[in-house]
Amino acid sequence: MTFRNKDVLADLDALEKGRIRSEQVNIAYKQAFASVYPLLFGSIVIYFLFYNTLQPSLISLWFLMVVITLLWRIWLLREYQNDQNRYNTAVWERRFQYVMFTSAAVWGSIAFFIYQTPNTLHQFFLIFLLSGIASIASGTLASLFSVVIIFLFLLLAPLFAVMFFHGGFEFQMMGILVVIFFILLAIAAKRIHVNIMNALISKILHQKATEALILSEERFETIFKDAPAGIFYYNTDLIVVETNNEMLQILKISHERMIGLDLKKLPDSCLYESLDESVQGEKGFYEGPYTTMVNKLNLWISLRTSPIYDTHRRIIGGVAIVSDITERVVAEEKMKHQAYFDALTDIPNRVLLKDRVEQSLAHYRRHGSLIAIMFLDLDHFKSINDSLGHHVGDALLIETAVRLSSICREGDTVARLGGDEFVILLNELGSDPHIAAQRAETVAEKIHEVLSFSFDVGQAESITTSSSIGIAIVSSNEQNADDLLKFADTAMYQAKKEGRNTTRFYQEQMDQWIKKRLFMENALRHAIKNGELELYYQPVIEISTRKIIGAEALLRWNHPEMGLVMPDEIINIAEESGLIVPIGEWVLMEACKQFVRWRAAHVSKSHIQRIAVNVSAVQFRQSDFVEKVIRIVAETGIVPYMLELELTESMIIDKVDTVIDKMNRLRTAGICLSMDDFGTGYSSLAYLKRLPFTTLKIDRSFVRDIMSDNDDAVLVETILSMASIFKLDVIAEGVETFEQFKFLESHGCQYFQGYLCSKPVQVNTFEELLNHDVQNCQAHL
Ligand code: C2E
Ligand code: CA
Ligand code: CA
Repeated sequence: MTFRNKDVLADLDALEKGRIRSEQVNIAYKQAFASVYPLLFGSIVIYFLFYNTLQPSLISLWFLMVVITLLWRIWLLREYQNDQNRYNTAVWERRFQYVMFTSAAVWGSIAFFIYQTPNTLHQFFLIFLLSGIASIASGTLASLFSVVIIFLFLLLAPLFAVMFFHGGFEFQMMGILVVIFFILLAIAAKRIHVNIMNALISKILHQKATEALILSEERFETIFKDAPAGIFYYNTDLIVVETNNEMLQILKISHERMIGLDLKKLPDSCLYESLDESVQGEKGFYEGPYTTMVNKLNLWISLRTSPIYDTHRRIIGGVAIVSDITERVVAEEKMKHQAYFDALTDIPNRVLLKDRVEQSLAHYRRHGSLIAIMFLDLDHFKSINDSLGHHVGDALLIETAVRLSSICREGDTVARLGGDEFVILLNELGSDPHIAAQRAETVAEKIHEVLSFSFDVGQAESITTSSSIGIAIVSSNEQNADDLLKFADTAMYQAKKEGRNTTRFYQEQMDQWIKKRLFMENALRHAIKNGELELYYQPVIEISTRKIIGAEALLRWNHPEMGLVMPDEIINIAEESGLIVPIGEWVLMEACKQFVRWRAAHVSKSHIQRIAVNVSAVQFRQSDFVEKVIRIVAETGIVPYMLELELTESMIIDKVDTVIDKMNRLRTAGICLSMDDFGTGYSSLAYLKRLPFTTLKIDRSFVRDIMSDNDDAVLVETILSMASIFKLDVIAEGVETFEQFKFLESHGCQYFQGYLCSKPVQVNTFEELLNHDVQNCQAHL
């Protein structure tokens, strides 16, 4: 017979063991009350039965003892019931033992009455009574096992002794039966005791579990309610089931509004994914901006979601924990802003500027797009600051930053390095250093202008200031941001030295470029009327006959000091200054006249039947361009189809309709049109089809590499075959070797130009080519 819960009992702490003990004692007390009246009744019966048989004093004494023990018992039970907590369990148990053991002894003593009576029935009554008390006690006292055993012993030991030593076989047997009876009762008591103990332990364990559950629920409730984070639950349909106060605080929404809210229909849907993930059994996370439903507050929140399961591991919804991190994010943003922007003027500071310059330099290294750094220093700022005070100085700086920013393009950066030093980064200045310098200078001029207006800085008199500007333009891939800033700074000091309110370029040559440009522009203005312009002619050869069938007119400028100036140096300046219009007109007139002369003179038996003239985009865009050409054709008497105007892709990309209209009118007048430098731009052959060209000129960069670069060879082949489909003539430019010539011939190219036959040459030389030396040219072929 063991405790089912013996191990469990061992595991219980002292407190729980104490509680079990006190329950045991409690049971014993309650049970003990039930037997008070039967015992009283039993004792009264004995009193009357034995009053005559025994000495009256003895029986009275015994009866008195019984009554006293019963009263004692009743008193003790009352005490216990009234205030159980007055003493601890051990004291109550001890008191109980005193009463019970005394009672057992008193009752056990009735065994001796057997000696005193010859009446068998009386003897039987005593034995019956003792057995009854013993049986009942083994049950009622079972909660305290040691008490039962001692009680039974005290009760039955005298009976055994009386039986065993009374003499006679029957009595001795009965004595042995008393022992057996005692053992059986003890076993029965033990069983009951074990059951009681099991019940008590189960009860305690259950209580313990319940307490733990209540405790954890209470704890959870506290966490849920008082957590410094917003928490809400929702079911699998994403309907809010419960929420805590913090959540309501974050969203500025009422509890009623929140409960039952359909999260699928939130106006700001950014949370949906993480919420949905949780009801799919995943953990979700979102951190970012969120606009609240009710007040449309723009918050930054951090949200974590997890699924909620029932006891069968089925998902029944999810829980979301939300923190409002707006303040943190704003603080971070502010810090970031402070790290990159000047506190006074709120424009980029040195750190951000350097970053931007490096980015622009990277772009320059990849695409060759030039950038300029302008270093600007306000003249006499220090004296303004000192004489008028810092607040005036500050106001001046702020206004300067505003004015500088207003004149810069969106992609440019205006930064303040500190003090009165500003830096401007100019991007996308093109690939030509001259042009880049000119653009930077234009910006510098604008800066001088905007800063020359007086500043209203809250003073009685408004103040004026000027600035010194140093410019550095990137000129090599090796230069970094620091280099450029240093160059610009040096240039700025140069500007200051040279009398303030000026602009200086870092590189001396830059200044020279600008000067040269101005000089060239001026010189070019006089070039036409001074007769300094001249046309060179480059022969166009028909590949099948290997004969010169035409010429391209190319501009040259014989400058009295500079010598022969090539078109690369002329055209840009001419286009920017607008001089290209009269120059172009002159070229066209001159070329036509020359061609007509050649034709009229029947120079040799020549087959020359075409003159090509280059047209600039600026020229072509002139509204009266077509009329001018037609007029010149008429004036010179050239056969229109013998004139070929060379256009480039750059002029056909904008306003296609007008361009096509102009081209059509030229075509109607009979004039031929060729597409120059084909392949270098972006127009496709298909696009070409829409435009009324008669001839294609393959750019010399492709021809140059047709023998070495397979891609170029394929491209040229493709152009040739497409051109034949579109019925366009093709002239290959820049043919320098016989191999190139052979390649072009074998792929069906009709014409070529190039050093293989001749460079562009003066009229006389060209005429010689046509007359006599033409054989020389053909000899190569
Ligand atoms: P372009 O129209 O492509 O003219 C052909 C250029 O290639 C000429 O340069 C010519 O000298 C050069 N060239 C011809 N054959 C060869 C060769 O075999 N190898 C090499 N390496 N080069 C060859 P040029 O005369 O210096 O003219 C340069 C550019 O200036 C012309 O390119 C054209 O776009 C422009 N141009 C020339 N004259 C005029 C003009 O009167 N008006 C306009 N708007 N532009 C002109
Ligand atoms: Ca050309
Ligand atoms: Ca060309």
